Formats: sequence, structure tokens, C-alpha cells
Amino acid sequence: MNCIVIVGGGLSGLIAANFLARVGVEVTVIEKKSYPFHRVCGEYISNETIPFLNSIDLFPSEFNPPSITKFQLTSVNGKSARLPLDLGGFGISRYTFDNFLYRKASERGVRFLLNTEAEQIVFDGNQFRIKVGDQFLYGDVVMGSFGKRSRMDVAMKRTFIQKRSPYAGVKYHVRTDQPADQISLHNFKDGYCGISQIEDQKFTLCYLTHRDNLKKYGSIKAMEEVVLQKNPFLKSLFADSEFLYDRPEAINEISFATKQPVDNHVLMAGDAAGMITPLCGNGMALAIHSAKILSELILQFVRKEISREQMESSYQKKWNAMFARRLWAGRQIQQLFGAEWTSNLAVNLMHSVKPVAGFLIRQTHGSPF
Ligand SMILES: Cc1cc2nc3c(=O)[nH]c(=O)nc-3n(C[C@H](O)[C@H](O)[C@H](O)COP(=O)(O)OP(=O)(O)OC[C@H]3O[C@@H](n4cnc5c(N)ncnc54)[C@H](O)[C@@H]3O)c2cc1C
Repeated sequence: MNCIVIVGGGLSGLIAANFLARVGVEVTVIEKKSYPFHRVCGEYISNETIPFLNSIDLFPSEFNPPSITKFQLTSVNGKSARLPLDLGGFGISRYTFDNFLYRKASERGVRFLLNTEAEQIVFDGNQFRIKVGDQFLYGDVVMGSFGKRSRMDVAMKRTFIQKRSPYAGVKYHVRTDQPADQISLHNFKDGYCGISQIEDQKFTLCYLTHRDNLKKYGSIKAMEEVVLQKNPFLKSLFADSEFLYDRPEAINEISFATKQPVDNHVLMAGDAAGMITPLCGNGMALAIHSAKILSELILQFVRKEISREQMESSYQKKWNAMFARRLWAGRQIQQLFGAEWTSNLAVNLMHSVKPVAGFLIRQTHGSPF
């Protein structure tokens, strides 16, 4: 019997674990934390994922995730434009969604090694050996779903990890007075902040900033007061919201550099294969979709319908065809954000040339799958 080891139990890892265990494949997930836990993420999921989530009984309907159908963009100096979203999305916290996927996967027989960090993966031509602490685990296939930045990237000497990246992310849950069906993206100098509703009438307020903002003002709070709140929409949002954590979740060194979807025979999914800029609100859809494509190929391999070589080359091809252009488009569009004149331009464009705005959004989103 083939054994599949999934390194990283975030969205892509949990989706693949559920998919494979459901059809009787033996799966072990190694996750360095334990559920439930908060993550830096805007927590808006594109509706393109719904058919697939329903098909494997993973749509989190029991939490009544709000449906989001409208988009608002504001510029650094507070100009605003609104647009209906073609496809739209739904909101659910990662705290709740990942825990729900973990519970489902456990019920389906997935073996979890929690609070356990994979340190090294070695492929000997036939089998993988994974080092965890002073023990080794063996697998026939290893899926790398260890997210945007991991010690696995260092251990595997992946190219993108050699360069520093200037982006940091910060997230809060708040109670506030915002339309439940709207996601807003507010620009500020060298960054942007999203807000949209999740379960239990809470909202996620999450932003990406250049690390220079943090360096210059010394603390998150000072930076928020001086930089973010120059945008009048953010000023009233910070003033009028009830913040539900003592302190925010924060991460740094977020990189949007190109990566390889197959690296040293490890099959990468989600951010480990390539990260789309968060303004697109599409990273989770990409994580789910890449996990689906990969799981289908792993299943064919397990059933001896394709060889390892075919599995790897087919995944590489499919990943590039489906996602490479979207990641590129996300990087280009991100350049319109975070400066006064370009963010004004983006808002004006959205306001007066709606088809152009719709076109830009479509460049980073996929079709329902
Ligand atoms: C600021 C910001 C806002 C965002 N907003 C949105 C949004 O609104 N909508 C959207 O769709 N996307 C958004 N994203 C993107 C989205 O969060 C990611 O694309 C998505 O979480 C990727 O899922 P993943 O499975 O690849 O990684 P993750 O969900 O990050 O999971 C990786 C897992 O691997 C584990 N891990 C790492 N290393 C090891 C190791 N060595 N051993 C064991 N475990 C390990 C980690 O603990 C983690 O649980 C945002 C991202 C950022 C930075």
C-alpha cells in the first residue's frame, strides 16, 4: 500500500488529505502547529471553489459563511469606487475553516503528527525519508504544502529563499459597521488593507505593508496611526471598530517570487508552489485548486495508472497552464497599489471604465472548478 506524506497542514495540505483519505489512500500529515490557530489571511474565499468543496463534502455551511458580492476600492487619499463582483466569494476565518477541515480529515482516517516540524526530505530514487526531530518517516509520495515560507525551503535550498522580501502582513478580527456583502480594499502608502465579513458577524481586517513603514515608525500601532489612517476610510475603520484580539497576528518576509511546483521530486501545492499577491483575494482558491489537481494525479499514481515521472511532469504542466499567468498578473496589478497617484488611477479606472476593472479582476481569478 502506498503511503502519502503531506508536509504542512494548511489549506492545500488539508484539502489533499481529505480528498485522498476519502477514497481510501493512506495519508499522514505533518503540521508544526496544532488546531485551531489563527493565521495572517484576509479570509475571503472565491466562489470558484464551491463546486469542488461541495463535491467532497467540505463546504463549511454549518458556519453560515457570509456571501460577498460587491467590491469597494479606495485610494491613499480616500477616493472610492464600487463594483459588483462577477463571481464573488464567501468569508470564513482560517481558525474555523482549517479546524473544520482537520476534523473532517481525522474522521476520514488521516493520521496527523501535530506540533511536529519536518526538517529534511530526502528522495532515494524510490522512496522519501523525512526527518522529524530524531526520527524518520518514510513515504512513497511527498506533497509539499508548507506555505509561503518554511524551514523546508531553507533545507531544500530553494532559490527564492536566498533573497529577502520586503512585505509584512498583519491581521485582526473586529466587530464593525460595514456592509456584510462587501469586500473593501483600502490603499495606504506602500500597502493595502482588506476588510470583509466572516462567520458570527465578525470581520477580518488584514493588510500588507512594506517593511520600511514598520521600520520608520517603530511599532505596528504607530505605523497604523501615521500611515494607514491617512486614508479617511481606514481612519474611521480603526476608530469605530471593536478589536477582538489583544494583539494582531503578524508575519514578515512574504515573497511573491517564482517557485517550482515540483522540486527534488516533492510535489508542491498552494503557496509552496507559488504565491499570488493577496490583493487578488485568490490565494486560497489557488491552494484548493492546486491540491485538487495534485490529489487527482497522486491517486492515478497510487492506482498504478501513471508512473512517477508522468505524475511529476503532468503536474508541472497543469500547474503552469492553470496558475502561472494569474500569479504574473497579480504581481503587475499590485504595482498600481500603495502610491497616491497610482491608487487614484486605479480608483478612477474602476469608477469610469468598469469593463477594464472587471477585466483586471478576471486576470487573477479562475473559473469555478
Ligand atoms: C496578508 C495576506 C492576506 C491574504 N488574504 C487572502 C484572502 O483574503 N483570500 C485568499 O484567498 N487568500 C489570501 N491570502 C493567501 C492565503 O492565505 C494563502 O494563499 C493560503 O493560506 C495558502 O495555503 P497553503 O496551504 O499553501 O499554506 P498555509 O495555509 O499557510 O499552510 C502551510 C502550513 O504548513 C505548516 N508548515 C510550514 N513548515 C512546516 C514544516 N517544516 N513542517 C510542518 N509543517 C510546516 C504551517 O504551520 C502551516 O500550517 C492572503 C495572504 C496574506 C499574506
